Amino acid sequence: MTPTTVPERRSTRSQAALPSHGRAHNLSLVLRTLHSQGAMSRADLSRELGLTRVTVSDLVAELQQRNHVVELGMAEKNRPGKPAILVDVNRTGLQIVGLDLAEANVLRAAVMDLDGNVLTRLQTELTDERGEAVTALVLELADRAVSAATAPLLGIGVGTPGIVDADGVVLTAPNLDWLDLPLGTLLEEHTSLPTLVANDADAATMGEFTFGGGGDDMILVKIGRGVGSGLMVGGRRARGMHSAAGEIGHVTVGTDGGAPCVCGKVGCLETWVAAPHLGRALAAAPDDAARAALLATAGERLGIALAPVVAALDLAEVVLAGPSDLLNGELASAVATTLRDRTLQQREPQLLVRLSEDPQDIVLRGTAVLVLWAQLGVA
Ligand SMILES: [Zn+2]
Repeated sequence: MTPTTVPERRSTRSQAALPSHGRAHNLSLVLRTLHSQGAMSRADLSRELGLTRVTVSDLVAELQQRNHVVELGMAEKNRPGKPAILVDVNRTGLQIVGLDLAEANVLRAAVMDLDGNVLTRLQTELTDERGEAVTALVLELADRAVSAATAPLLGIGVGTPGIVDADGVVLTAPNLDWLDLPLGTLLEEHTSLPTLVANDADAATMGEFTFGGGGDDMILVKIGRGVGSGLMVGGRRARGMHSAAGEIGHVTVGTDGGAPCVCGKVGCLETWVAAPHLGRALAAAPDDAARAALLATAGERLGIALAPVVAALDLAEVVLAGPSDLLNGELASAVATTLRDRTLQQREPQLLVRLSEDPQDIVLRGTAVLVLWAQLGVA
């Protein structure tokens, strides 16, 4: 996989951030620019950031000392004058451990480079473990992943089901039977590495934003055992008052009934769209036409739930992440059609509805982004 570069969007954001001062901010700007645009000379960095050569050299020197930036070879000579040395984020000399705890029967881990490429995979099967037993398995999996790293680790990122506050406390995760579990602190104490924890759909949103070409104003809907979403608004992740922004799974859709939900209500979004519900309905359908109708209905209900969100926030993109055999086709097109029918069409570019290209790894790659943001200020 080639390093991801999305220069136009990133550079706009860098420039917008420039009026702010402070050395830490400038160090982050250097890292962010290199991470998104790739290796460049100090002179190019100075032009890009509008900082003097002396300032840039000084910032780069500090980042080299921290091992966050390295010198590469000489640039291709395309300008008069002596050839310049390229500097870049230490993409391969540092690694990140990511954990994805959101799948039904397995806890997944990966060692990744700073571009979110998976270098090593590990996993632990889950049977009926709940509560502290799951916590113990997570710590053990983290140990194994840390041992599998082949370069110094920048930190650990975790995507977990449930609601997670800004301090890495899992406030509630009914599927794992966790309540007010300080998962971030537990992992930090256990591994001595900085640890960032987010809801799995939020992590996926960060992954899509940084590595998947996702835009500044986007909702990512993650469909699996349940339905969750993450929101980017103006290039920032929305958290909400209770750290529960994007929790749309138990919003009831429509007033015409639907199936009973585990939460006690009837017709929650999950009962229309979550993979187990949809899978059962599809298995019972008599023929292809009936299956297509079920998928179209699921997409329509999802579109109905999303329309006010898309309109209220003037979003540019709806990204669907989940099993492509369910999402790709009738379901995704029904989402697009429903959104078009139910919102006022803005001027070009129109709302884009698309599938995540890497649904299997998007949570893991997103956990790498959590660590990059926290440790390097890189977006
Ligand atoms: Zn419900």
